[in-house]
Amino acid sequence: MGTISLAQVDPRVASFLEKPRQMLINGKWVDAVSGKTFPTYDPSTGEVLATVAEGDRADIDLAVKAARKAFEGKWRKMSPSERGKLIWKLGDLIDAHVEEFAYLESLDNGKPLTIARAADVPLAAELFRYMAGWATKLEGNTIPLSVPYTPSAKYLSYTLREPVGVVGQIIPWNFPLLMAAWKLGPALATGCTVVLKPAEQTPLSALKLGELILEAGFPEGVVNIVPGYGETAGAALAAHMDVDKIAFTGSTEVGRLIVNAATGNLKRVSLELGGKSPNVVFKDADLDKAIPGAASAIFFNHGQCCCAGSRLYVEKSVFDQVVEGVADYAKKIKVGPGLDSATEMGPLVSLEQQNRVCSYLESGAAQGAKAAAGGHKVSGKGYFVEPTVLVDTRADMKVVQEEIFGPVVVAMPFSDPAELVPRANDNVYGLAAGIWTRDISKAHRMADQIAAGTVWINCYNIFDAALPFGGYKQSGWGREMGHEVLNNYTQTKAVCARI
Ligand code: ADP
Repeated sequence: MGTISLAQVDPRVASFLEKPRQMLINGKWVDAVSGKTFPTYDPSTGEVLATVAEGDRADIDLAVKAARKAFEGKWRKMSPSERGKLIWKLGDLIDAHVEEFAYLESLDNGKPLTIARAADVPLAAELFRYMAGWATKLEGNTIPLSVPYTPSAKYLSYTLREPVGVVGQIIPWNFPLLMAAWKLGPALATGCTVVLKPAEQTPLSALKLGELILEAGFPEGVVNIVPGYGETAGAALAAHMDVDKIAFTGSTEVGRLIVNAATGNLKRVSLELGGKSPNVVFKDADLDKAIPGAASAIFFNHGQCCCAGSRLYVEKSVFDQVVEGVADYAKKIKVGPGLDSATEMGPLVSLEQQNRVCSYLESGAAQGAKAAAGGHKVSGKGYFVEPTVLVDTRADMKVVQEEIFGPVVVAMPFSDPAELVPRANDNVYGLAAGIWTRDISKAHRMADQIAAGTVWINCYNIFDAALPFGGYKQSGWGREMGHEVLNNYTQTKAVCARI
């Protein structure tokens, strides 16, 4: 335990932080085989928040064995309805522990407590309830055959949707609990078993979730949670020969490593990767909504969203007005520790991220971009960066091309809507896009032309358990949420009987 004042936090959270946290393998809380632990930090102070068992290859091996045994045993025998009830119960248990999760998320990740309480935690609970319903609805088809070389034969043919098996899930630090829910919900609904590796920066809420998984009554080994570093525990999981599928959310760079690691046993891979999403404001937009909309598209979660609206394209005649509005919004954001009820934006998650974002700010300045707001880190304790709006950019600048993953938007004017689509699509990523206009035909025409997995019209960052989310181009493979995600976790068996 570090030096944060536990008097500030909910007493249940204080006692959770006081003890070194163990990992969940085969229904039991255990230390790492190596006995090692690692610290997780409070990003608003840089001080140690808690210590956590450090998983590595040996722990991943044990977790995979437990997941295999559960897959072939109790979990497989359970009826879909029983499975669904457990998943629903987990959602309700999350709701019953909103405060603890909100505090853990705020302390470990840095996000405002108010946001964790209003968004991260309830969305996670809802995801489980949405997925609970799918457990009983994974149907195949009956298929009429016309086999030319057996003209008189009759067949009964049907398909079964079966779970892919043991799944490794590697998640990032930006929405620690919610990403665990996005991954676990569909895996459990389809009857897979899981080894989950939370991000080393933010392992605490996943471990708290592990307690509720046991309390809900999931059989041992169905969900195993192994905290640890990416290059060790993560890499061992991605390469494991007895893991049937890996689901990853994180950087595109690590996504490539995951794909390579998966080649050993050709495990299935789904990826949710980076983004550099265009957000387009037309002159006919309702600017009273578009301006705060464009600001929150980038500044929500401190810009640490893979779908952040980080390239703002504004029609020339309203460019100055929109940039001024977004810059004003940025300047007024109250930056501070997540637990402070006045805070609207917390610190970035780590010193590494603060340095990374600041190096982009320096690169932008060196290449000639100007800051209409922000532009620097906040000096003093903690990993704070000013909400930043950059103008005078060119398409070839690093700040325009690359994902910054921080509170930094580049604003660029356009005059001819026809040249806009190629500019918006001029990026290796294709995760999301925003369009602000009152012209519904224009909005839907653009939605058709933008190469992105999600297009928001007159809104941004709207998520729902029923709405599929995922990337075009180098933003990923497969979709999360909605019924589409079930494809990631099932495989089809065709059964053909001569009758
Ligand atoms: P970021 O750079 O934003 O921290 P990463 O893509 O590195 O994002 O991290 C996302 C997740 O991937 C984390 O859980 C991390 O531990 C894990 N990870 C990082 N490197 C590897 C790797 N080589 N193999 C498997 N997982 C990894």
